[in-house]
Amino acid sequence: MKLFGCLRSPLFGSTGGFRVSLDRVGDEPIGMVATYCPSAPQSQGLVIRDVTADEGSAILRWNQRHPKRQVRPGLAILEVNGCCSTAEMLREVKDSNCLELLLCEHLTPLQSEILSSSRRRSKAIAAVEAVIQEIEVDTEVTEQCAICYEDLTMQVIQLPCGHCFHKSCATKWLASCKAHQRCPLCNQKLEIYT
Ligand SMILES: [Zn+2]
Ligand SMILES: [Zn+2]
Repeated sequence: MKLFGCLRSPLFGSTGGFRVSLDRVGDEPIGMVATYCPSAPQSQGLVIRDVTADEGSAILRWNQRHPKRQVRPGLAILEVNGCCSTAEMLREVKDSNCLELLLCEHLTPLQSEILSSSRRRSKAIAAVEAVIQEIEVDTEVTEQCAICYEDLTMQVIQLPCGHCFHKSCATKWLASCKAHQRCPLCNQKLEIYT
């Protein structure tokens, strides 16, 4: 908490904080994945998990011009356009084409935890996506997803055992913990985590 106080004080600059201005042109991607903990206090900000080097992203352009103030994974975003609550920052990132970010390289223990749990989760989802296969479905068939009990009419995947679920239901289940790396219906083990 003390860190946030420092950043807004005249000492700002000695705490590893710096400002970044991003100009997004049209619908181009901003070029990063930021994460946050919904249950964390508002002042915990967002944490940058990945910077996707998308061609033509606002971050790629900034990073090429400012090699010493690069936007990179592992930085906390403390302010976006002067807003410092999580909801306001997310709204600015979504709606505004000009983004003034205040970034900080020193993470609080909670921000570090948010970052590592988000990294674990994205690794788990990537591993799950490698073992599931999206299939075309016949809209006449009214089979149900055994996870949510809704009809399997769209975004359906098939596990190696042959059982089908909604892609989002299966991904959520399989990526949630190691004990869940089995088909929820027949219990066949899936080789997801190494
Ligand atoms: Zn479902
Ligand atoms: Zn199965």
